[in-house]
Amino acid sequence: MSLLSLPVATLGMPRIGPRRELKLALEGYWAGKISEQQLLEAAAGLRVANWARQNSLGVTIIPSNDFSLYDQILDTSVMVGAIPEAYGWESGPVSLKTYFTMARGSQDKEHDASCAHVHQGLGASAQEMTKWLDTNYHYMVPEFHKGQTFTLSSRKPIEEYDEAKALGYQTRPVLVGPVTFLKLGKAADPAFDPISLLDSLVPVYVEVLQELAKRGAEWVQLDEPYLVLDLDEATRTALQRAYGRLAEEVPGIKVMLATYFGAIGDNLAIALKLPVAGLHVDLVRSPQQLNQIEYGARADLVVSLGVIDGRNVWRSNLSALVERFKPVIAKFGKERVQLAPSCSLLHVPIDLELETELDSDVKRWLAFSVQKIQELATLAKALAGDGNVIVALSESDLAARARQASPKIHDTAVAQRTATIDEAMRRRNSAFATRAEVQRKRFGLPLFPTTTIGSFPQTSEIRNARAEHAKGKLTKAKYEQFLKEETASAVLWQEDIGLDVLVHGEFERNDMVQYFAEQLSGFAFTKHGWVQSYGSRYVRPPILFGDVSRPKPMTIEWWRYAQSLTRKPMKAMLTGPVTILTWSFVRDDIPRSETCRQIALAIRDEVADLEKAGATMIQIDEAALREGLPLRRSDWRSYLDWAVESFRLCSSGVADATQIHTHMCYSEFNAIIDAIAAMDADVISIETSRSKMELLDAFTAFKYPNDIGPGVYDIHSPRVPEASEIGDLIALARQRLSDSQLWINPDCGLKTRKWTEVRPALVNMVAAARELRKTS
Ligand code: GLN
Ligand code: ZN
Repeated sequence: MSLLSLPVATLGMPRIGPRRELKLALEGYWAGKISEQQLLEAAAGLRVANWARQNSLGVTIIPSNDFSLYDQILDTSVMVGAIPEAYGWESGPVSLKTYFTMARGSQDKEHDASCAHVHQGLGASAQEMTKWLDTNYHYMVPEFHKGQTFTLSSRKPIEEYDEAKALGYQTRPVLVGPVTFLKLGKAADPAFDPISLLDSLVPVYVEVLQELAKRGAEWVQLDEPYLVLDLDEATRTALQRAYGRLAEEVPGIKVMLATYFGAIGDNLAIALKLPVAGLHVDLVRSPQQLNQIEYGARADLVVSLGVIDGRNVWRSNLSALVERFKPVIAKFGKERVQLAPSCSLLHVPIDLELETELDSDVKRWLAFSVQKIQELATLAKALAGDGNVIVALSESDLAARARQASPKIHDTAVAQRTATIDEAMRRRNSAFATRAEVQRKRFGLPLFPTTTIGSFPQTSEIRNARAEHAKGKLTKAKYEQFLKEETASAVLWQEDIGLDVLVHGEFERNDMVQYFAEQLSGFAFTKHGWVQSYGSRYVRPPILFGDVSRPKPMTIEWWRYAQSLTRKPMKAMLTGPVTILTWSFVRDDIPRSETCRQIALAIRDEVADLEKAGATMIQIDEAALREGLPLRRSDWRSYLDWAVESFRLCSSGVADATQIHTHMCYSEFNAIIDAIAAMDADVISIETSRSKMELLDAFTAFKYPNDIGPGVYDIHSPRVPEASEIGDLIALARQRLSDSQLWINPDCGLKTRKWTEVRPALVNMVAAARELRKTS
C-alpha cells in the first residue's frame, strides 16, 4: 500500500461471475454434464479472478472464504457439522452430494424461494430457506436441537486461505460469526433457544482460527449482523462469552467484527466492550453512529468505516465523502481506520461496464461492485492526502450534480400530483360492511367462493416463446396470438371445472414486478446486473431512478380479452406499490415512502382504468409488504404507516361495488394484524395450508372483519391434495372465521407448478367447496 492511501477492504465479493459462470457450472454439474472436478475448477477460477480483480483495483484487505458454491450459511452449517440426520452424514468431510442435498433436496426438484422443509415421500428434502435479514438473498436455515454437538467438518476457510496465499494474496478470511449463526437457525422445539449451544459451538471456531493463525492469517472477519437487531439478554451475554473465549484461546489472530444493515444502536456498549481488534460499522444506513463510536471506542480499536453503499447501485459523491471523513481520519489516526463498503458487495451487480445499452445519463449515476471498489480506492487516496485523485473526485462531483439536476429524474407533473394527495383519496367511499352488502348483491357468489391467486403454469412453451420473441425470432403478432390461445384455454378450463372467480393466468408476464416496471416511467433495466437470490437463482432488479408515472394503461387489454371469454367475474391482477419498491433498486435521493407514493398513484390510475373498462374485481398483490419490515421493531410503525397508506392510495378510488382483493405469500400476521386490517381490502388471500390454519388465530383474535381466503392447497409441493384433505383444512378455518368471510383458494400463484399437478388439485379444491356448501 502506498503511503498516500488508507487500507481498503471489500468484506466480500459477488461470487456468481460477471457472466454468471457459477450458475452455468452448477447447473451443468447438477444435470450431469460436467464432473465434480470441472465444477470445482470453475469455482476456483472465479475465486482467482475475484482476488486478482480486487488486487488490481487497489483493495488492500482482500477477503477469502467469501466464495460459496451455494450459500455461506450452508457452508457454516457444514463447517461445524450442523447436519440433520436426514442427510445421512455421520462424520468426516462432507461430500458435495450431501452439501447439495441440503441445498436442493435429493429429487433435484425446482425449489421455490418461500418453500419449506416438507416433501412427503420424495426423498430427503432441502433445508428451509429464508431471507438474509432485510435483503433478497436467501440462506439455508441451520437446524439445531438440544444437546447438539459440533465438530469441524469442512476445511473450506482454511483451504481457501491457503489457495489465495499460494497466489501471493494475504487475505482476511470471512466467517459468519457464531452468535449470528445460531440466531439464524431454527429448532424443531420452539421453546429451545439455539443460543444455548454457544459453548459447544465456539470450540470449532477456535479450531478454525487457530489453523488460520498457524498458516499466517493476521486478521479474520467475523460477520455479526445480528448486532444491529433488537437483542435479548441471552444473546448479549452470548456475544461476550463467544468473543471473550476466542480472544483468550486464539490471541494470535485479530478479529474484525463486522456489523451491517443498520445501527448497532443500543448494542453498542456491548460491542465496544468485546475484546476484538476491529469493528466494522455501516455508515450508509446509520451515519450518526460514528459519533458514539468516536467517543466510546478503545484507543486501539481499528474501525472499518462502511462508507460506500453495498446495498444499492448509486455512485457516491466522493468529494462530499472526503469532506465528511477528513475530520474522522484526523481524529482516529490513519493507522486506526479502514475504508469499506457498508456491507459485502454480494448484494450489488458486478460490473457496470458490461452495460452497453443503458441510457448514458443513468449509467453515469451508477456504480456496481467494480466501480464501488474504484470509489473506495480513490477515497482512500484522497483522505490520505494524495493529490493525484483530483480528476476522479471532480468527475464524481459532476456526475452527482448532473444527477441532481437531471430532467430525467424530476417530473413536475408527478410532484404536483403527490402534493394533492389527501385523506379522501386513501379512503373507500363506504365502510366494509356497506361495501360487502353491495358486492354480495352484485356478484351473487355462493358460500365459500372459489378462486386462484393469479398465475397459471409458466410452461417451457411459454418461456420459449417469450425468449424467441425477445430475440426477434417470433413476431409480436404471433407471440400475442400464442399468449391469447394460452389465456383462452386457461379461462375456459376454469369455467369448466366450476371455479367461481376466474383469472387470466398471467402468461404475458415475465415477472410480477418487472412486467410493471417496464411499462412505468422512471425505471431502467440492465442486461448483466444479476444479483444472487439463492443458490444458482439470480435476479436483475429494475433500477428505479426517477419520478414514477404511468404513460399508458398496462393491463387493460389482456384483462378485457380474458373477460370477453366468460360471464364469470374475471379478477384483474396488479402488483402493489410496496412490492414494486421492495424488489427494485430504489432512489437514494428521496425517501422510500415518497417513491412508494408515486408508484401507488400510477397503480391507482391503472385501477381506475380497469374499473372503467368493466372490471368488477381487482387484485393488488403485496407479496413483499411483510418482508419490507425494518430490522428494528422501533422502526416498524412508521414503515407500516406509509406502506398501508400507499396500498390504500392505490386501491381506494373505486366504487363500493368494485371488489378489491390483495394477496400476501405468508400468514404470520400476529405482530402486524392491525396494519393488515387497515389496508381494508375486501378480500385478502394468504398462505396457510402448511400451518394447519393455526396462523389464522391472529385474525380471530383481532376479529378481522373483511373476507379472507386462507390457502388450502400447498403450491410449493408437486403433491396433489385430495378433496377430503382440503375439506379438513377448510373445517379448521371455519373454527376460526365465520363462513360468510371465507374464500377457498390455493396458497399462492401456480406459475411454478405443472398443469398435470394444477388440474387435479383445483378440481379437488372445487369439489371440497361444493361438498361443504351441501351441508352448510
Ligand atoms: N398474482 C401473482 C401470482 O399468482 C402473485 C404472486 C405472489 O404474490 N408471489 O403469481
Ligand atoms: Zn403468493
